[in-house]
Amino acid sequence: MNKNKYINADSQLFGVLGHPLGHSLSPQLHAIISNILNKNIAYIPLDVSEGNLSSAVMGLKSLNFKGFNVTIPYKKSIINYMDSLTETALRTNSVNTVKIEENGNLIGHSTDGYGFMLDFQRFFKTDFSNKKVICLGAGGAAFAICQKIAENNPKELYIASRDIKKSTELVSNIAKDKIYAIDYEHNFKKIIKDCHIIINATSVGMAPNNNVSILEPDDFYKGQLVYDIIYNPKDTLFIKNALATGAQGTTGIGMLIGQAIAAWEFWYDIKIDTNIFTEIIKSFSILSDN
Ligand code: NAP
Repeated sequence: MNKNKYINADSQLFGVLGHPLGHSLSPQLHAIISNILNKNIAYIPLDVSEGNLSSAVMGLKSLNFKGFNVTIPYKKSIINYMDSLTETALRTNSVNTVKIEENGNLIGHSTDGYGFMLDFQRFFKTDFSNKKVICLGAGGAAFAICQKIAENNPKELYIASRDIKKSTELVSNIAKDKIYAIDYEHNFKKIIKDCHIIINATSVGMAPNNNVSILEPDDFYKGQLVYDIIYNPKDTLFIKNALATGAQGTTGIGMLIGQAIAAWEFWYDIKIDTNIFTEIIKSFSILSDN
């Protein structure tokens, strides 16, 4: 029997801080990971309304939390409470994982880009080097993902936003050659057809708005690689449209698992064998189907 199955006085405390948290899958996901790694933790939802962020962070320190995850809408505002940031958090200007050191110092980190890359490579058995890539959206997740893709030497990377100022800001932040800001007008559809890889990093199609997609089946082509970072619903209309044309594609459950694995590595300063991915995805798929 796993002696860490039940919470007790030795359990180390973690949680996910956001608002609202009704649909967060993180508590179940981290319970599965702790079980696989045989770690004695309690991971709880921390639904904090705006205005209470400062007192909530103080409370987590006083309660001896070891760390926590951060989700919408606090990935940027939480930075104000950090004592230091990792290089990745600095570059992406976003924090989704916080480690609380024994002296109470808070270190902010971002694992979204790592989680995306881990799952993309696992699923498609390839990477971005020498590929033409388009990322739809220039929000928080797109910032983390595009930084990671840019490190992987794509042939061209296009970042699309409704407001070209937002994608231009991301392009300047990455500061590398062959990365372009575009909007959804002009050559957008032509670029889509010309790209080997399409990523949806917008929230279009996320539950409860399941029946919308930025792209239609005709926009994709057979063999194109398509990743939708949305994980709720599990099968987005965007991915259904891509698969209908013979493209290969997946949604963001694997990215969610990847960023959670990276959070554990950061909190415990360990390297986790990515082979546990399959084990996690099996238990997690059963849970997230219900
Ligand atoms: P965010 O910072 O609020 O960004 C939202 C993005 O959606 C922006 O790029 C925005 O586009 C775009 N958008 C919203 N409405 C749009 C519309 N009608 N047409 C075109 N674009 C629209 O949120 P985020 O943190 O980046 O999260 C984005 C999505 O990724 C969410 O669904 C979230 O659940 C998911 N996510 C998944 C994971 C995972 O582990 N799988 C991790 C993080 C986030 P503009 O740039 O045009 O304003």
